Amino acid sequence: MNHDETTEGGCLCGALRYCIGGPVGPAVHCHCAMCRRSGGGAVATWVCVARDRFAFTKGEPRVYRSSAQAERRFCPRCGAQLTFWSERHPDIMDVTVGTLDRPESLRADYRIRTDSRLPWLHLDEDQRGYRGDMPAEA
Ligand SMILES: [Zn+2]
Ligand SMILES: [Zn+2]
Repeated sequence: MNHDETTEGGCLCGALRYCIGGPVGPAVHCHCAMCRRSGGGAVATWVCVARDRFAFTKGEPRVYRSSAQAERRFCPRCGAQLTFWSERHPDIMDVTVGTLDRPESLRADYRIRTDSRLPWLHLDEDQRGYRGDMPAEA
């Protein structure tokens, strides 16, 4: 949990910038295949923030409806994926940790969708892992 007043980030090319007011976290590694495809990495690392505290401050993202209830926002110029939002948790915005200006300020606390983990990928096994989504009480 990071209690900095504001957290900022943006895409690779700089066309999109965002700002998060207030606390951010927790951060989670997601092993699911959709996160792999959309981000291109072996795992996606997200930080959960209150949706009403997240705002784009520069540029207009493109929205990709990746499932019936979920939207992913990305830069139309460089393709960087910035956010994930689901109707299942409408008050939460997930932000890609890799697009934060200071990703080193956060540590992922959990791993989710571990049933989809690539067999050669090993992360910190001290972290709590869930085969599906993180339970609400976590
Ligand atoms: Zn960009
Ligand atoms: Zn995922």
